[in-house]
Amino acid sequence: MLKSYFTAGITFSNPISYRRVIVINSMLSLSVLAFFIFTYLNVVITQEYFIALLDFIAALLSLFTLWLLRYDKNVQQAAFISSIFLMAFMIIFITKNQNSHFGLIWSVFIPFFAIMLNGKKLGLAISIFYYTIMFSLAYKGLGIWNDGEWAVIDLLRFYTVSTALTFFIYLTESAHIKADEELSLVRENEHKTLQELTLLSITDALTGVHNRRHFNKVLSQLFLDLSDKKQLLSLLIIDIDYFKEYNDTYGHYAGDIVLKEVAQKLLFLLENKSDSVFRIGGEEFAIIIHNKSQSETKKIIDSINLSIEDLKIEHLQSKLTCKKLTVSAGVCTNYSSKDKQLKYFYKQADDALYEAKDTGRNRTIFSK
Ligand code: GH3
Ligand code: MG
Ligand code: MG
Repeated sequence: MLKSYFTAGITFSNPISYRRVIVINSMLSLSVLAFFIFTYLNVVITQEYFIALLDFIAALLSLFTLWLLRYDKNVQQAAFISSIFLMAFMIIFITKNQNSHFGLIWSVFIPFFAIMLNGKKLGLAISIFYYTIMFSLAYKGLGIWNDGEWAVIDLLRFYTVSTALTFFIYLTESAHIKADEELSLVRENEHKTLQELTLLSITDALTGVHNRRHFNKVLSQLFLDLSDKKQLLSLLIIDIDYFKEYNDTYGHYAGDIVLKEVAQKLLFLLENKSDSVFRIGGEEFAIIIHNKSQSETKKIIDSINLSIEDLKIEHLQSKLTCKKLTVSAGVCTNYSSKDKQLKYFYKQADDALYEAKDTGRNRTIFSK
């Protein structure tokens, strides 16, 4: 609750802007509270009416900026306005107060807020502008301010501390920004590497289609999603015929090229829906088809058989008369249900594939 108040419902792209919003919200909320209390104290106790009026104006301006920040969610604008208000307030306050009770000490907050809220460049410009005015006021106040006790040594101390502090805050902010940029870069690279690794872990290195690991995952998830819905599903297992003989005749390297060609053809026929084609074994592929009847599925598988033959890959050692590379397929088309799960579909399709092999190859068998 407190955290959501200070973050003002703003979303952050990096830790720097997160810090900026928290600081500006806290600062403005505290200023509203503090300036109303100062107004009250100056009216009722010290009866310094001009200072009370200044405090009252500062309280209203802080309230307005706070409203602007929370309503507009424009951090940059609120940061700039509050820095200018704070600066103007300090200049008027010191002019009036003449550094009595060392009122000048409040100046240390100017570079701190200006740089932290507006970023290093604009913040530094605001701080330099502020100190140009304040340094000359402090110079003119020699022998006048602090009931005539404001001396050159005090002035030099003020100059040195203010300059050193501004420089230090500027350096710290620069280091923060640099560290934040480097962290973002590391995160971006990590994210990219993770994406690459995830892709590698689910992709078959040779053919580029998804691998068996992904097949198991996709199917398990599919059956989990469908656990309470009945949906028509087809699982196709496709196996290249006489592939051992192909390797023996044309060599393993030529065999690899054929595997790639077949995989790309399957992907093409399934309109590049990569989550539908998997290499699940050496020369074995699986395809998942959703919501298509057995006759529609048959059309797809017929086009697969034809397209593979159409590749016209010579296979002289094939025991088939065409002497071309062919495939056999086993298909299970059924409604998913509690008892018709992954194992059921897989076994049915695998049995059908065996039957296709036993009955002469280059064909598709649908499980009963
Ligand atoms: P069937 O018609 O009964 O399917 O006979 P087959 O020769 O295709 O089947 P078998 O299981 O006897 O042989 C499969 C061959 O697939 C054996 C193996 O050398 C080959 N193979 C498996 N993985 C790869 C691979 O990554 N590259 C190549 N070139 N060949 C592979
Ligand atoms: Mg085979
Ligand atoms: Mg096989």
